[in-house]
Amino acid sequence: EQRWSLKGMTALVTGGTRGIGHAIVEELTAFGAIVHTCSRNETELNERIQEWKSKGLKVSGSACDLKIRAERQKLMETVCSEFDGKLNILVNNAGTTIPKEATEFTMEDFSTIMTTNFESAYHLSQLAYPLLKASGNGNIIFISSVTGVIAVPLCSIYASTKGAMNQLTKNLACEWGKDNIRVNAVAPWIIRTSLIDSIEHASRLIARTPIPRPGEPNEVSSVVAFLCLPAASYITGQVICIDGGYSVTGF
Ligand code: NDP
Repeated sequence: EQRWSLKGMTALVTGGTRGIGHAIVEELTAFGAIVHTCSRNETELNERIQEWKSKGLKVSGSACDLKIRAERQKLMETVCSEFDGKLNILVNNAGTTIPKEATEFTMEDFSTIMTTNFESAYHLSQLAYPLLKASGNGNIIFISSVTGVIAVPLCSIYASTKGAMNQLTKNLACEWGKDNIRVNAVAPWIIRTSLIDSIEHASRLIARTPIPRPGEPNEVSSVVAFLCLPAASYITGQVICIDGGYSVTGF
């Protein structure tokens, strides 16, 4: 049934070569979407594209550094010509962190984290707007974090980018609802990906989670796909925690 399908829909998923983004690419294609993705490492990107091709999945890709404004513009031009000016789904997934105390962060750290996580997601949403509107049924999903909802050690800049994303979700939902564009965010807790290798205190945090294990990338991608489905057509402006219950801070 059409309510539970993304058949024929077009999607841009940033950072699809690893982790959560990789799972999102596979989940959206499984629901019938045609996907374009990107990452900085061109070798890894081409390997993934070959793997997807051999599985019969419709995925294309561009090597780009989302920190650079001109590369974001070029990416959206590619997407525009590939998908005939129409985009149904933008997933702002690419992101990074550097674990440090607030007193230790440098200006370069600040700029790297802010630009990768927030500025690029903001700008890509602006660039995608005409394409999302032209599709007649547009969706933006921000991959935020529980750290943007409650305070967690060693991530003050990262957490600020995610808090900003959570508010942006609400503002864009209000500005673009009239254009048939829904805007939602998912806020994962600790998910088993390469990003987590750098977090030394992860095991202590996992032990304090009601479901005491890390999440898997496909436990995030399933919610992303659901939010993009016609079945979710009245949901907009929401930030959904995928966190094994961590953010309820119960007993
Ligand atoms: P990974 O580090 O495993 O993957 C990140 C992906 O983004 C890679 O494909 C990477 O490719 C790409 N990427 C990173 N920087 C850039 C850039 N400047 N330009 C283009 N592509 C880039 O991360 P996760 O899958 O763990 O994280 C994905 C998202 O989920 C992030 O926004 C993160 O903040 C969020 N998240 C993750 C959690 C976790 O526990 N893992 C928890 C909560 C949120 P390349 O390096 O080649 O550029």
